[in-house]
Amino acid sequence: MSKKNKPPRPEPETLALPPCGVDSHAHLDLVDFDPDRVELMDRARASGVARTGNVFLGPEAYRKNRAMFANRPEVFFILGIHPGNADQCSPEALEAMRQAFATDPRLRAMGEIGLDYYWDDHPRDVQERVLRSQLALARELALPPVIHCRDAFEDTLRVLLDEGFSGRKLLWHCFGGDEAQARVLLDHGWHVSIPGPVSYAKNEDLQRAVAMIPLERMLLETDCPYLSAEPWRGKRNHPALLAFTAQTVARLRDMPVDALWVATGQNACAFFGLPALSIEPEELP
Ligand SMILES: [Zn+2]
Repeated sequence: MSKKNKPPRPEPETLALPPCGVDSHAHLDLVDFDPDRVELMDRARASGVARTGNVFLGPEAYRKNRAMFANRPEVFFILGIHPGNADQCSPEALEAMRQAFATDPRLRAMGEIGLDYYWDDHPRDVQERVLRSQLALARELALPPVIHCRDAFEDTLRVLLDEGFSGRKLLWHCFGGDEAQARVLLDHGWHVSIPGPVSYAKNEDLQRAVAMIPLERMLLETDCPYLSAEPWRGKRNHPALLAFTAQTVARLRDMPVDALWVATGQNACAFFGLPALSIEPEELP
């Protein structure tokens, strides 16, 4: 017997966090969750995740998939055309988004919108045009944007400032930068959402940044099914695993994980205009 007996990974329920955490960014409508979506939403609740923001990657996904959450009041919605789908941004698509935001109170923000120079699925000038048209719509409808930025920090910043978003409510999703970048975002008055990779040993710059971001500007997210935190790295991510991101962030900030969990949950509720959560169980129907 040479096979090493690894201890089993802890399940998120065992962290017993209070029932008022918020996963600010999840993709529960993707096919990855077709086999067990309901079970995983139940596990999120059992792990202290009281609300989850489901991000639809465009108006077509929203139209097709929103019924998945008809009986899940703990899921709120975010809708925007992802830079990887930039070719779907037509006048009709923008009109469909305008209609959706006008009629569905579960839609709380416009995103994820931004620039992605890592995958570079579409020409950069096209990505920028798509971002600008959605920022204009967000401004018109007084919606906070949720920004996706990959290998495009300077250009994303330039467009956001050019479109007048300095000092406006804005969430920088899946922050993976360093202290200097965090400082820039904070100086513009924006919120920053921290994903699972903060728990990867090599991400020391990110870890230092997370230690200095003021708590009242911080949200947590899974971005599931991607980017699972340790010790679930490499496995499919889901909202309950947010507990492990919280554990890392609390350690980096030298504070109790419960307090970090409650504060980031409250920040998310305030950011998305959702009713505040109580730390008492069974608050939601
Ligand atoms: Zn995402």
